[in-house]
Amino acid sequence: MTQTDPLARKLRDGLERLGAALRADQWAALADAPLNPTQAQILNFLVKRGGARVGAVAAELGVSQPTATDSIAALERKGLAQRRAETKDGRATLIFATARGRALNETLQTRVGATDRALAALDPAEQAQLLALFINLIRNLQLEGAIAPQRLCVTCRHFRPYAHDDANAPHHCAFVDAAFGGAALRLDCPDHEEAKEAEEIWLKFSRGAPTGDAAREAVP
Ligand code: SF4
Repeated sequence: MTQTDPLARKLRDGLERLGAALRADQWAALADAPLNPTQAQILNFLVKRGGARVGAVAAELGVSQPTATDSIAALERKGLAQRRAETKDGRATLIFATARGRALNETLQTRVGATDRALAALDPAEQAQLLALFINLIRNLQLEGAIAPQRLCVTCRHFRPYAHDDANAPHHCAFVDAAFGGAALRLDCPDHEEAKEAEEIWLKFSRGAPTGDAAREAVP
């Protein structure tokens, strides 16, 4: 399939509609908050990462550094974020969410919109299938350099796809030494470590479940 195929265009149209619904949800969730969606996205990123440089914020949002700097400055003025020197000479700085910023972010993350309800209406198998498709799409965009590297299981050195002969929990996380199912695949895991053999991991994952002995041999 190429980008000009009717099906590819239809899929992009579908994504655009979902994006519009998400944006509407974001504005509705922020109706009584002193933030716009970009500032809310940065605040959530700072909370999840425990602090980040301006360059990392810009890469995550897919915007220029001056644009990210403006939004961060707005968060600082509102007392939701602050800068701290990362090095003794003060040349490198990290941006953190303040306690007030973390509390506001927690409140915002609990708000439920139409997109959440539409996703919840899917049955668990459909949700797991959708998650696998999202992972595939995010990985493709990442390979194209269109989005910043995400902390996905499928690019993590601790990930052992289809290591267990168990349809409900076929994967293994070597970091916590536990089996898990497709619905628990992570898109943003704080324990993620980039795998050197990411392509090999992806091939194993995308091939699907091996059979019998091959599955049991996969756990080191
Ligand atoms: S450490 Fe996190 S990203 Fe890596 S395999 Fe385990 S759960 Fe997935």
